[in-house]
Amino acid sequence: MHPRLPILDDYPLASLNTFRIPARARHYLRVSNAAELDAVRGNPALSGLPRLVLGGGSNMLFTRDFDGIVLHMTGLGKEVLGEQDGKLLVRAQAGENWHAFVQWTLAQGFGGLENLSLIPGTVGAAPIQNVGAYGTETRDTFHSLTAYDLASGETRTLDAAACRFGYRDSIFKHAQGSTLVVLDVTFALPLDWTPNLRYAELANAVEAAGLTSPTPREIGQTVEAIRRRKLPDPAEIGNAGSFFKNPVVSGEQCAQLLAQYPALVHHAQPDGSEKLAAGWLIDQCGWKGKALGAAGVYPKQALVLVNLGDATGQDVVRLARAIQADVAARYGVALEPEPVFI
Ligand SMILES: Cc1cc2nc3c(=O)[nH]c(=O)nc-3n(C[C@H](O)[C@H](O)[C@H](O)COP(=O)(O)OP(=O)(O)OC[C@H]3O[C@@H](n4cnc5c(N)ncnc54)[C@H](O)[C@@H]3O)c2cc1C
Repeated sequence: MHPRLPILDDYPLASLNTFRIPARARHYLRVSNAAELDAVRGNPALSGLPRLVLGGGSNMLFTRDFDGIVLHMTGLGKEVLGEQDGKLLVRAQAGENWHAFVQWTLAQGFGGLENLSLIPGTVGAAPIQNVGAYGTETRDTFHSLTAYDLASGETRTLDAAACRFGYRDSIFKHAQGSTLVVLDVTFALPLDWTPNLRYAELANAVEAAGLTSPTPREIGQTVEAIRRRKLPDPAEIGNAGSFFKNPVVSGEQCAQLLAQYPALVHHAQPDGSEKLAAGWLIDQCGWKGKALGAAGVYPKQALVLVNLGDATGQDVVRLARAIQADVAARYGVALEPEPVFI
């Protein structure tokens, strides 16, 4: 049925998503280059089917089986390209593990990605939601990427402007970019590195460790230690990290909320809006450590929903909806899920 392509049918996805939801794919293919995507495009048996690009499955919630073809990005390789305008260009293939890539840069003394240590997933997915943590985002060191367009069959280079990065957002999450498959990503790491300690929790941890002039690697290790304390390891407890984005509200709405709830956690944005801490809102609604069936709220961090054992995607959706309804009723704030629902 699929000449030339090693496609597997009725493929189990439980070990390929960090929530460990036992969904299945009608077809499954490991992809490492544009030629394989060309072959998928040109195969009449596959051309009309829905396609799902899969990296590490750490930002996805399977709510059903996938009745199409899963394109699992597994291409490996990373290289130093050289210097340009005071930056060091490094490139990695989409299937490289993100944390391993960050550690590879840090081990060589290159700074820039240390605040993004220990984030699960692949290099190819980092630009999709402009992965961010501890005051740093992918776009801060992004140079360009190579993408294959499943609609046209062309391979293109996109720079940062073309990617239209926003908070947990990029062109790839919108119609114009939805047919693009990221093949590799190039980062521009600063040669005159200085630590980004804008995030108070990280700054405090660095100070507490007595690091007066920390190296990029030491900052990375500090970030790892903080994350290990706060977040569940997907190898032990199924989860997809933060389940909701931090909601952004107007300055006026924030002031009204503060009058009623003086302890409200909020961060002023450059445009005058305010970002609220979704975890705080959920915690205040009494959800921390609670469960609905086999889906639960992580006791140490209310923003993380977890699979308590044999949860289905629908169990997680039910819990998420209940939380959204409570937060909306109490604070008039809409919580938007961060993972992609399949
Ligand atoms: C414990 C934990 C902590 C986390 N912490 C953070 C955090 O601090 N900050 C943060 O931003 N995120 C965080 N996440 C979410 C997740 O790790 C990131 O979003 C990560 O980039 C997802 O990578 P992935 O390869 O697993 O993507 P997947 O889950 O496989 O895919 C996510 C989306 O990207 C698309 N995609 C994947 N690869 C490609 C590609 N090559 N080309 C085109 N589209 C692609 C998929 O189709 C899907 O829409 C966390 C998750 C967990 C489990």
